[in-house]
Amino acid sequence: KRARSNKEMIAAYALDDDISQRRELSIINSLPKALAQHQLYLVYQPKESLHRGGCEQVEALIRWDHPELGFISPGEFIPLAEYAGMIDLVSAWALEQVLVQQGRWRREGIMLRVAVNLSVEDLQQGNLPLTVEQALARHQLPGEVLALEITESTLMSNPSKATENINKIRALGVKIAIDDFGTGHSSLAYLKDLPADEVKIDKAFLSGIEHDSRAQNIMATSIQLAKGLGFEVTVEGVESHELRQILKHMGADNIQGDFFARPMRAMELEVDLRRLGIACGA
Ligand code: C2E
Ligand code: MG
Ligand code: MG
Ligand code: MG
Repeated sequence: KRARSNKEMIAAYALDDDISQRRELSIINSLPKALAQHQLYLVYQPKESLHRGGCEQVEALIRWDHPELGFISPGEFIPLAEYAGMIDLVSAWALEQVLVQQGRWRREGIMLRVAVNLSVEDLQQGNLPLTVEQALARHQLPGEVLALEITESTLMSNPSKATENINKIRALGVKIAIDDFGTGHSSLAYLKDLPADEVKIDKAFLSGIEHDSRAQNIMATSIQLAKGLGFEVTVEGVESHELRQILKHMGADNIQGDFFARPMRAMELEVDLRRLGIACGA
């Protein structure tokens, strides 16, 4: 399933006047310009470390304020960029932004690991490890400043190529996290060979765990399974103190979600270092 070229997509859509398809096409066509014109920016969502307290890692999430269409969520435009074969532009941009930001933060003594989300196409590219290595070198940063988040389905689409790339990237000191864990199609048999450092359990598994013992069982078992296999475990989408306590009790290593902190601009994060418990040498 090859990504379609812009021309092919226009041809496919020409037959159909549907408004949502026009919106999609307009989003795809304005993406390259949007990247050049700084319509896109990153926000950073802190994770709380439940063992040590405070925050050692944040996830970079992309945002787009479109001049005509208004705010476009990544849930809408990332799949379109993937479909149009343009995700490499987005990923390269996000990686560069994060390394520029990390250069600043390191100089100010702000010590964090920042995670960047990657898509399936990124992992299939033979030159991804070299791209990452060269980008780190260009910014004179160690691999420890970076994590890459990939989904299970990304790994499953070409396991040997993805694994080869991931192993080279991990050798740089860059952490690999499996995102949206539990929502893909990876089998338990595959889990033991997963080339990752961290597993992020999807927020779908939080649904009902305050009162439903079956939901509790699935969450507790997933956490124990992942920890037993040596992965650091993060639970996503934690919105309340009650959920935080349940997950702490279940042995989760980190929580990420609006209860601890919403995704925020770099500047907002900088003014909140103390409250967030982020190490700052300066
Ligand atoms: P994700 O990587 O699983 O990111 C977590 C999503 O959960 C984010 O949505 C975040 O804003 C949201 N979230 C965090 N805490 C809470 C909470 O307490 N409650 C709820 N309901 N949601 C919470 P967002 O920012 O809309 O991103 C959606 C997805 O878009 C991401 O899911 C990721 O797959 C993708 N994405 C975002 N930025 C990038 C990027 O730079 N590159 C790529 N390839 N994908 C990206
Ligand atoms: Mg993610
Ligand atoms: Mg996720
Ligand atoms: Mg998600």
